[in-house]
Amino acid sequence: MLITHDTRCALDTVVDLVNTAPEDDTTPDGLPDVPALQVFVREHQVSEVGVLTEADLAAVRRIRSRFAAVFAAPDPRVAAGLINELIAAAGTTPRLTDHDGYDWHVHYFAPGASVADHLAADCGMALAFFVVAGEQERLRRCEAPDCRYAFVDLSRNRSRRYCDSRTCGNRLHVAAYRARRKEAAG
Ligand SMILES: [Zn+2]
Ligand SMILES: [Zn+2]
Repeated sequence: MLITHDTRCALDTVVDLVNTAPEDDTTPDGLPDVPALQVFVREHQVSEVGVLTEADLAAVRRIRSRFAAVFAAPDPRVAAGLINELIAAAGTTPRLTDHDGYDWHVHYFAPGASVADHLAADCGMALAFFVVAGEQERLRRCEAPDCRYAFVDLSRNRSRRYCDSRTCGNRLHVAAYRARRKEAAG
């Protein structure tokens, strides 16, 4: 499937957003306050965002949990239902733009949209294309038992199992290797 630069950026943004969520009550939130949201928006070059407020932070956290559900969806129908709700609530409005020297591409967020609606529309559409392409299973969660990070598997044969093979993949390899050695020695 063809993944344009813009879709790629939206995918990176939604994965990073989902992964700011605390795993449980004991872990800190990656978006603890409005300044943290400001940094997130700047680092992900979310365009046309005005002054951010506590209400924005609360709204972004709400859509974050909706996006987390998309990555945990067991099949395309469940994912489609969740994505439809996200993009409908965001007042999604497709329009062509060539801002900041980029080639023509489509923005999906409505003009003047809040940051939460902006993310819901553009990231929601980026995920929608995976369902359209029959590639919903590429939207995954890391299989390392203590990780569960969301990621998008862009490998050719959809074989990626870990959010980051250098950390999670490697860590498990080492653990499995040690277990085998122990067994062999025992
Ligand atoms: Zn753009
Ligand atoms: Zn992981």
